[in-house]
Amino acid sequence: LTRATVKTGLFKRRMIHVARRFGALEKWADFSNVSLQRLLKSFEGTPIFEEALKEVFLKDLDVERLVQVLEKIRLGEITVQKVETRGTATPVARVGIERVSMKTDLIPPERMRAVLVESARARLLNETCVFVCTNCWSYADMIRVKDLPAKPKCPKCGSEAIGLLKEEEEKVLPLIEKRGEKLTKSEEKLRRQAVQTARLIEKYGKAAAVALCARKVQPSDVKEVLEKSSHLDDKFYELVLEAERKAISKRFW
Ligand SMILES: [Zn+2]
Repeated sequence: LTRATVKTGLFKRRMIHVARRFGALEKWADFSNVSLQRLLKSFEGTPIFEEALKEVFLKDLDVERLVQVLEKIRLGEITVQKVETRGTATPVARVGIERVSMKTDLIPPERMRAVLVESARARLLNETCVFVCTNCWSYADMIRVKDLPAKPKCPKCGSEAIGLLKEEEEKVLPLIEKRGEKLTKSEEKLRRQAVQTARLIEKYGKAAAVALCARKVQPSDVKEVLEKSSHLDDKFYELVLEAERKAISKRFW
């Protein structure tokens, strides 16, 4: 019975609950990257495994009834009848099979979505980028996106045309020293990026900066996101994640 039990979704679910309670798993550990099977294997022989097993027997399985049924089968009060269905499960069996596998409700899709949004929010807000004024070219600063005001402004000239560069500060400094003129090719490229991103930040403020921090996305991708949502709410982060997914998959084609 133990051997059959550890194969069920019920047991896997209990195991994860117990592991969390023991602090062996982070509350929102991302299971999509880890093979659940491997994870469970690594707990074998630990108190976590024992505890999970105990809980399945106590809370999930009706061991007493099971023994009763088996006893009745032994006494011939219940007979086992084989139904020929040519490989498909009967309706009753299907209910049983679905209950036992129960893989999908390990993390319900709704909760999974909330977890993804929450981690995107935390990741993007913690990015630090260089912000540079594309109006006077005499201001550049490293700022954590979280600390930006809703409408970033240049402290030197008051312009809202603040560009965002995902670069080291020293690579951006020549733009300031040369006031955006007589640039080398790579500096010219940075200048163009700053001007492009400044257009978005000028129009949409902090939300533009947050979206621009997403991986691999181009200003044109960010523009699409911002046209649909420019408030830092769940929908916004979902759109950013979607844009990120698209941008990353494009790279492979
Ligand atoms: Zn300025």
